[in-house]
Amino acid sequence: MLHRRIKMMAAALASLGIWLGTLGGPVTADEPAPATVFKAGFAERDISPKIGDEAPGGYGKAYHQSFRDPCMARATVFDDGTNRVAIVGLDALFIRAETVNEAREAIEKACGIPAGSILIGASHTHSGGPTGLFLPGEFDDASDLVKTLAYEHTVCADPEYLEKVKKGVVEAVVEADAKRVDAKGNAGFGFDDLVAFNRRFKMKQGHEMTHPGQGNPDIIEPAGPTDPQVGVLGIWDVEGKFLGCVVNFACHATTGPGGISSDYVGYIVKTIRGVMGEDAGVVFVNGMSGDVTQVNNQSPHQIKQFGEVSARFVGGRVGAEALRALLAMEQGAAPLGPVVSKSEVLKLKRRPPSPEHVAEAMEIVQRDLKTADHTAWAFAKETVILAARIEKEPVIGAEVQAVQVGPAVFLTSPAEFFCQFGLDLKAGSKFPFVFPVSLANDVIGYVPHEDAFAPTGGGYETRLTAYSNLEVTAGRAITDALLELSASLTPGVAPTPPPLPPFKGQPWTYGSLPPQLD
Ligand SMILES: [Zn+2]
Repeated sequence: MLHRRIKMMAAALASLGIWLGTLGGPVTADEPAPATVFKAGFAERDISPKIGDEAPGGYGKAYHQSFRDPCMARATVFDDGTNRVAIVGLDALFIRAETVNEAREAIEKACGIPAGSILIGASHTHSGGPTGLFLPGEFDDASDLVKTLAYEHTVCADPEYLEKVKKGVVEAVVEADAKRVDAKGNAGFGFDDLVAFNRRFKMKQGHEMTHPGQGNPDIIEPAGPTDPQVGVLGIWDVEGKFLGCVVNFACHATTGPGGISSDYVGYIVKTIRGVMGEDAGVVFVNGMSGDVTQVNNQSPHQIKQFGEVSARFVGGRVGAEALRALLAMEQGAAPLGPVVSKSEVLKLKRRPPSPEHVAEAMEIVQRDLKTADHTAWAFAKETVILAARIEKEPVIGAEVQAVQVGPAVFLTSPAEFFCQFGLDLKAGSKFPFVFPVSLANDVIGYVPHEDAFAPTGGGYETRLTAYSNLEVTAGRAITDALLELSASLTPGVAPTPPPLPPFKGQPWTYGSLPPQLD
């Protein structure tokens, strides 16, 4: 606990540009030596869908009708002279492992970065292209009913668009790798607790609800936390020119400014580039935001919680906090190391719906959609597809990954992971800078905290669907595995500006005079 408090204090001081290293004693033998070789590069590609493409984000079908701002694949590559890792922030709702693996293999073939050392995180923009949920052909061997429900009534990936995403990711990483130069870096945190809110609430009715509605008098209190830290890894070349950064913050990208869009991510990029330079790379990876959104159900004011103003509010403020952290860390930047990636695939069981549940769902989906209760029909459809999914794949493989860059570690989950797990990772890891990343390298649906499955739990994320259906212990298993990966790594030195030599000079002659009263 004390260790944790010191760590939090150090992180807070670091974010203010104050370094405990300058206050502490001499470096002991078991502390890692400062890195010598450190290279980094940034690059990006446009992966915008086109008008008419499917717009994923809900359980049903929707199509893009306008374009607002581009969806991008933003990449960075780090190299310590021995290992290279790549981190990609993708403006997409999510990305399936099949596409990730194809991109990883193509990158390894093109430039030699090992497939397992590539992290691809989806920003979760709800205004991106059709990267899922279901893949073309996934249910071809299922019944005609399941095929109709999956392909015609559920959001599906478009093979042509997946190809564009894959090409964009590969080209961005290969270019970032080719642009690697000798670099220095540093990590820090900004802080904002006014843009992201837990969307699940304890209610007077007795069970938890998701989005009970702004001003609902039956709200008792939020059912889970938020994470106000804005994690930043900043990179400069050896001359001090800013190359780019990785930004980590936990909030659903659901502001929906209108049309095809990166959602609030575009404003983070714009804000940082406004001060640090238009050619700066800005890679955004979303934190554990499965239950966190921009909507404040407890706000007493009539405010816009969606649309342009909301995107600007979230992205502008998160970008500004990232910028504050970058400005604070700039003068301490130094070569970072080591650069390491480790991962593991966990076997997780799905929760099968009972035969009665499936039978009831089968009856509901036969009803006429025009007259049926829409919510009941949508969840019944999900149950029928889930039953088919479980028949084929009762146990899934879930990749967890730890990507270390010096004193910072990115710990990834393929889930829409609840925020508490991200806080548990930060508290349980010995790294001074822990950046939890959700929807990384695959999508396995919502994975709620175990408390949400208690009799007093509930809400949208705990319902069984074809999307969210893992066993209750899945979240803890993922968190424990990530903490084990983190524990197997040794944090690199968090750089500090060089210490001041003992004072030997003379005070400023104009400033060292006594007061003058005449
Ligand atoms: Zn979501």
